[in-house]
Amino acid sequence: MWRRIIVFLTALTLGLLQMSGRLQPTYLYLASPFFLSGIIYLFICRDRIAVRILAIFYFSSTLYAILQTENLAYLRSSLILAVGAVAVSFYQKMWHEKVQGVEEKKLLTLHEKQALEERHQTRLESLKHLEKRVNGLIHLFEIARDFNECLDFTQLGVVLDQQITPEFNFERGTLILVELIPQGEMRLVNQLTFGRRKREDPQLSEKFAHECLKVSRSGQSVMKIDLLQAAEKTQFEPYATQAPLWLFSLFIERQLIGILAVEGGSATDYQKFEVLASQLSLQAKKVKLYETVKENSIIDGLTKVFVRRHFFERFREELKRAVRFQFSLSVLMVDVDHFKSYNDKFGHLVGDRTLKEVAQVIRDHMRRVDVIGRYGGEEFIIVAPEIQKREAMELAERIRSAVAHKSLRLYDEETRVTVSIGLSSFPEDLGTSLTVEYSDRYVETLVQLADQALYRAKEEGRNRVIAHKV
Ligand code: GH3
Ligand code: MG
Ligand code: MG
Repeated sequence: MWRRIIVFLTALTLGLLQMSGRLQPTYLYLASPFFLSGIIYLFICRDRIAVRILAIFYFSSTLYAILQTENLAYLRSSLILAVGAVAVSFYQKMWHEKVQGVEEKKLLTLHEKQALEERHQTRLESLKHLEKRVNGLIHLFEIARDFNECLDFTQLGVVLDQQITPEFNFERGTLILVELIPQGEMRLVNQLTFGRRKREDPQLSEKFAHECLKVSRSGQSVMKIDLLQAAEKTQFEPYATQAPLWLFSLFIERQLIGILAVEGGSATDYQKFEVLASQLSLQAKKVKLYETVKENSIIDGLTKVFVRRHFFERFREELKRAVRFQFSLSVLMVDVDHFKSYNDKFGHLVGDRTLKEVAQVIRDHMRRVDVIGRYGGEEFIIVAPEIQKREAMELAERIRSAVAHKSLRLYDEETRVTVSIGLSSFPEDLGTSLTVEYSDRYVETLVQLADQALYRAKEEGRNRVIAHKV
């Protein structure tokens, strides 16, 4: 601005001087270089308006001088200078517009570049995010594949510990399987814990499971629970009260089959746990189904003791163990007395219930290590490891007496049954010492000898225990 004011004042002074005739032509010649250099300077400084001001003043003062003087040389040079100044002004205008255009273009390109860079950055970030999600999904897929190979609950726990614990951000997870029982109640079927701070105390875990069940029964499928609040209402014992607790209810066909409880999970992993929970629902169902099938194939439906085939597998294992560690072992063959006439008298329904009760009484009076199987219709077989004949006789006597004293009330019938028991023992009844090599033959022989002893018990009047005598 100040530059324009100086130019204006100079041009005005010189113009006025010239018009007043005070400025001699000689001075005008001197003033021309001054004007020219002024124009060039302004041109370099790109001040178009100032150049125009200068040109207009110079032109008008020259025009005035033409009318005053007859000096043609001066007139010519003044005209050339004025035309030059106007030409420079126009050229400068064009040039300026060109430069401005280029600069605008440059600015536009710069903005476009910036926008492109921003878009590129967002794309890159979303790509990275996508990549992370894809990796997460691949990992979940791998976990699902590993789950698929699990056939029991313990294996499921191993996969959770090996695959989830190192990859997901959380402190402790608990998987609880439940079963619906009549009156809308639930029974805890199985539960396991995993994670960096997994529970070592199963009792605590059971308590936790029940508390989770209580909360999850509010009907929501997924819950984020404030543990502080929850702790007030229930008896949670979280590893830290500040940690969030997520409860994912596992449903199959709209039926609650379990709960996945996650403590201290990081918000970023919430969705992953949600996917995991749905995988676990399917898997838990599969494991349950497999366990039921497995149980049905080894457990007798009526009496709940091992079926004959599975009993003999266990018998062989026990005998192998006895041979290896030089333990003795006894076999008890138990047969219900006069069961045919019992059936005839009370009917088969009562007969079935009686067999069930007898099996229960035997189980209640044998040791935890003893193995029982259903040998035939109303015959049971027991293998009692690590006891010799004398102790086995005591065990058999205990069973016999318990059955004889058990009064059965079935379908309004008050009844009672007795059993006869035949007994054989390893190694004494085989005529070998404890140092023999295992053979399947020994199993057969021990059963045969116990059967013979049972036959004798029947012959001698039933409701008694007879051991094989060498
Ligand atoms: P003993 O004292 O000599 O053993 O006489 P018993 O009548 O028990 O002997 P027997 O072997 O002749 O008869 C066995 C009966 O057991 C025949 C059958 O009706 C009955 N029985 C076998 N399995 C079942 C079963 O699953 N349910 C019922 N209700 N009865 C069964
Ligand atoms: Mg029989
Ligand atoms: Mg019988």
